[in-house]
This record gives sequence, C-alpha cells and structure tokens, in this order.
Amino acid sequence: MSVQQAIREVEALLGKERLLTAVEDLACYSFDGTADAPSKRPDAVIMPETTEEVQAIMRIASKYKIPVYPRGAGTNLSGGTIPIKGGLVVTFQRMNKILEIDAENLTATVQPGVIIASLNAAVAPYGLIYPPDPGTVSTATMAGSTAECSGGLRGLKYGVTKHYIMGLEVVLANGEKFRAGGKTVKNVTAYDLVKLFTGSEGTLGIITELIVKLIPAPETKKSMLAIFSDLDDAGKTIAGIIAAKVIPATLEIMDKTTIETVEAFAKAGLPTDAEAVLLIEVDGIAEVVEKEAQAVVEVCKRFNGKVQVARDDAEREKLWAARRAALPALARKSPTTVLEDATVPRSRIPEMLRAIRAIAKKYDLLIGTFGHAGDGNLHPTILCDERNAEQMKRVHKAVDEIFRVAVDMGGTLSGEHGIGMAKMKYLEWELGATGVDVLRRIKEALDPDYLLNPGKMVAGRS
Ligand SMILES: Cc1cc2nc3c(=O)[nH]c(=O)nc-3n(C[C@H](O)[C@H](O)[C@H](O)COP(=O)(O)OP(=O)(O)OC[C@H]3O[C@@H](n4cnc5c(N)ncnc54)[C@H](O)[C@@H]3O)c2cc1C
Repeated sequence: MSVQQAIREVEALLGKERLLTAVEDLACYSFDGTADAPSKRPDAVIMPETTEEVQAIMRIASKYKIPVYPRGAGTNLSGGTIPIKGGLVVTFQRMNKILEIDAENLTATVQPGVIIASLNAAVAPYGLIYPPDPGTVSTATMAGSTAECSGGLRGLKYGVTKHYIMGLEVVLANGEKFRAGGKTVKNVTAYDLVKLFTGSEGTLGIITELIVKLIPAPETKKSMLAIFSDLDDAGKTIAGIIAAKVIPATLEIMDKTTIETVEAFAKAGLPTDAEAVLLIEVDGIAEVVEKEAQAVVEVCKRFNGKVQVARDDAEREKLWAARRAALPALARKSPTTVLEDATVPRSRIPEMLRAIRAIAKKYDLLIGTFGHAGDGNLHPTILCDERNAEQMKRVHKAVDEIFRVAVDMGGTLSGEHGIGMAKMKYLEWELGATGVDVLRRIKEALDPDYLLNPGKMVAGRS
C-alpha cells in the first residue's frame, strides 16, 4: 500500500518517463553480476537527474519507510544491488556528466553515473589517467566503483579506488545532503567522511557527486610472461621482485587449471604444462622501465622462471588478452561461475594456492585460481551448476573454508569485491563481535530504519 503511494509521489515528482514499473523492466533490475545469488524484483526503478531529485526521493522513501537500492551498472560480484527486500532501485544513467577536469589541481569532478573508461578517455588529452581499473572499466560507474571501493590489475603500484577519491557529495537516508573533502591534497578536517562513504556499498548514503584524483600517464610500459614448473618458485619470484625494489604496475598469477582453460579457449600460447605463470608489467619513465624490466627478468630467472618479454604492442596486447580471458574462459566451462576474492599477505600466496587446491580436492570441485598476486588478491573461481543442489552444498562449504583459511593467514574477506550479501556471515571472523557492532552503530546513526540497501553488509538487529 505505502509502496504504491510512494511510487505515486515519485511519479508526481519525476513524471512517468523516468520511472519504470513494468514487470519486464523490473526483471532486469532483479539481479546483478553475482552468481549463485537470489533474485528479487524491485517495486520501481527511478532515474533522477539532479541531487535535489535524489533528496526528494529519499524524503519520500523515508516517509513511507521504503527500502532504496542505489545502482550503477550492476556489475558487482557480491549481490550489492539485488533489491532483496523490494522497494525502489535508484539508477544514475541520467547523472553521467563529467563536470570539470582541473589539470592544474589534477582532479576531475564527476556525477555518479560516469563510466570509468569515459573519464579516462576525457582526461587522456591532458596526459592524465584515473588509475582504478576493475575488469569492467567500460561499463562500471564512478559511484558504483567508489561505493564498492573497486580495485583491479594496477592495485599493486597505484592502489585502489579509495586512494583516488578526494571529495564526495552524499544524500543521506532522510534526504539531507552534505559535502566532504575537496581538491586539496591535504585535508584532515575531522573524521575522514570521504573514506567512510567510499566502500560503504550503498548502505550509508547516496553518492551524487565525486571529486577524484588524476595522475600523469606513464611514459612507457613493458610486459613480461614468466613460466614456472613449481608453485613455490612463482611465490618466491613475487616476493623477490618486491625485494629488488621494483613495484610493477601489474603482477598477476594464473594457476594450472586457469592456464589450461585459457589456452583451450583463447589459444594465447600459454604453456599448459606449467604449474603457474606470472604476468608482469612495469611502467614509468623509459630509462627506469628498462632497468626495472631487467631486474624483473633477473629475479624470474633466479627462481627458475622462463621469461618472455613482449617486444612490441601486439605482443603486449596478446599477453594481456590471455589474462583478460581468464574469467570468460573459466565461465564457459560450466553453467555457474562462483568467483571469490580471498586476499592474503603476498608472502602467503603459494600456501593459499595450495590450500585452495586441497579444498577443491576435498569437495570434489573444479577451482581455477587467478588474480592480483602482487597485492595478495586471489580469485578462486568455482565451476559448478546452480541447478545441482548437492554440488552447491559442496560449493558453499568450500567457499566457507576458503575464507576461513584466508582470514587465518592474516588476510581479508575482500580485496576488492566488497561484502554485500554473501560474506556478511563471515564478518566476525575478521572484525570480531565488537567490530561488527561498530559497523551496526555507524549504520544506525545514519540510517536508523535500514532504508539504504538493507540486507547488505550490516545485518539488522532482529
Ligand atoms: C567480469 C567482471 C570483472 C570484474 N573485475 C573486477 C576487478 O578487476 N576489480 C574489482 O574491484 N571489481 C571487479 N568486478 C566487480 C565490479 O565490476 C566492480 O565492483 C564495479 O566497480 C562496480 O561498479 P558498478 O557501477 O557496476 O556498481 P554496482 O554493481 O551497480 O554497485 C556496486 C555497489 O555500489 C552501490 N552504489 C551504486 N551507485 C551508488 C551511489 N550513487 N551511491 C551509493 N552507492 C552506490 C550499490 O548499491 C552497490 O552496493 C568485476 C565484475 C565483473 C562482472
């Protein structure tokens, strides 16, 4: 009843054109990029064009106590945009303007629906880049990736989204708005509200504008493939590269299952008899890149790696195409692909890879693992079929065990995909009961009725 009344008030505010209520439209917003997750249709999808409209929507939602789910491109992998309790999905495709590129202060000011790749295309003529690069750069939005605190392939050298968000405008659950941060490199005014809302997964407020940091584009890049017949040697190489004081832009690993699958799919020339390969890219000023590439080759050889250095852009592109093929190649082997992002200190990568292999054996599952070895962020990918209930029980047990092992190794539940729905049950392992209660107290201070993205990250008290 009250949902319908709320929808009528939203319609009076925005008109019919920016409000979807047809079943076939709502079905498109009932799921996101997450496999093995429940789906649920919202009651309506709303497309605001201004911050004031977002405020008005939140006032209506707050009056009728209707759940609201902010949504970017819906590519997240943690069930973050599934409207699990029904209510209103708010999307930002009509708030997608780059408001300013300030080359002097190295910042850009953008609306929430700007696609990451569009920002990079716009700043390229200034010789600048916005470094966060999740695999979905050409679809994911600035606010979605900020609320998720996305990472990507360049995390080791360039960090993740939170390192590039300098200022935010946010609408709260009751419709009030505030701004925090700005264009200054230094800003220690009070609590770091920008960091609090970055990675808040749509549970604390709606991001309506962002000021982001840009950096000069690297002058040149060099990419290498290192092949190992022993997992430990690959692990020692990862540590050895860092010990040689080289921080590659990208340092990726693929395990044997992933190599075999990618090769069968993409014919990228990967060695199927290898236990692991590392894909490494150094970037920066030409002379430094040359020196760093030499140092990387020496370390790889010291630990019995066979190294191929890409000689030109075509060879470089071929290497990265192989890495990009990892997920699609694994995904085509089975109807369901459960992709996790367990993360451990980088020194424990070989141990973690072996643990994942043992878990796969224990539960009789096929798990391919690839990921951002340089920052310890692995993507164990379980190939399964969600129609097979017995197999899915084994999958869920395996996932539980993978996260238990990661936390026990001093790692974390999420390197970049967030907590969303699926990982809420593990939070106490990492934060303890008091830590989880602190999350709850923050949530309830800002959104006492759990209107914003309920059922995600912070469980209610009931
Ligand atoms: C094939 C594939 C590869 C991927 N590779 C990577 C990778 O390499 N690294 C990585 O980190 N992730 C990766 N992801 C996950 C995902 O793409 C990223 O998290 C992405 O940045 C999410 O952006 P989005 O616009 O799709 O956000 P959505 O999925 O729409 O939303 C993400 C979260 O942000 C919230 N949100 C959205 N808009 C707002 C707003 N305006 N205000 C407040 N909250 C909001 C949502 O409620 C949700 O909780 C991958 C996903 C896929 C499918």
